[in-house]
Amino acid sequence: MRRIEKKEELQEYIKWCKRHHKSIGFVPTMGALHQGHISLVEQSSLENDITIVSIFVNPAQFNNSEDLKKYPRNLAKDEILLGKANCNVVFAPSVEDIYSDDYEAQLVDLGILDETLEGEFRPGHFDGVVKVVQRLFQLVEPDRSYFGRKDFQQVAVIKRMVDVLKIPVIIRVGDTIREKSGLAMSSRNLLLTEEEKTIAEIISQVLNQIKTWSDEKSPMECIEKAKSIITKSQLELEYLEIVHPLTFEKLTKLWVPGATACIVAYCGKVRLIDNMEIVSI
Ligand code: AMP
Repeated sequence: MRRIEKKEELQEYIKWCKRHHKSIGFVPTMGALHQGHISLVEQSSLENDITIVSIFVNPAQFNNSEDLKKYPRNLAKDEILLGKANCNVVFAPSVEDIYSDDYEAQLVDLGILDETLEGEFRPGHFDGVVKVVQRLFQLVEPDRSYFGRKDFQQVAVIKRMVDVLKIPVIIRVGDTIREKSGLAMSSRNLLLTEEEKTIAEIISQVLNQIKTWSDEKSPMECIEKAKSIITKSQLELEYLEIVHPLTFEKLTKLWVPGATACIVAYCGKVRLIDNMEIVSI
């Protein structure tokens, strides 16, 4: 596996791939890798000749400087995991290389995606995501790019960006990988104590319960029941909504195929996000 840090070196490598008709699979990450990321890398290596993983903690998508500072980083360990997962290139650029003076991202109107759930609670976050992924797509020129369903709304944002800007890339979505306890794997879990990890398990438990209740109860009734469980726990709920999987409209009375429960809760100081499809498509 090769490590590339400079965009010029990456662009040379990409030229070589294109000349030799090698298909490129791309997995953008912020590092501190776990099995969730690795599952995307494995999927990419099955479907492409070359797999490139970027590791870049993108300052533009953090709306809280303390959160950015605390974000876990561990390039040496990440490289060991990627080496075992058939990754060909790890691209670990500097902030200057990504946001050099000659680069300007095209704006994308995200509509409701920018106003609801993550859009509402992390103003500017998706602008930062659009900015960096657009730039990375420009540099990597992937045939396919891989994203986790764990960041359900982010997937919708990326698909919208690709659609609006007509970027020639296929977006592939991998399932959420969970700990045995049900806790969705996340780089941020590294910031949890063992005790906090146990508290955090309530998040996926509640999502599973919503699925059970949904046979008899409306979305609103499920949300209320779930909220009362969370309020009694040591989690601090930021939001819990059930949304239409495409329009992201909040569902209250009626279920639709693909209805998805989206949740963010703080466990101590750590912000945890998860979601679950409640009604299958
Ligand atoms: P991040 O490093 O958090 O920016 O994540 C990089 C990619 O990995 C994103 O597409 C995430 O949605 C995906 N990802 C993160 N955690 C998981 C997980 N537990 N299961 C599947 N994909 C994940």
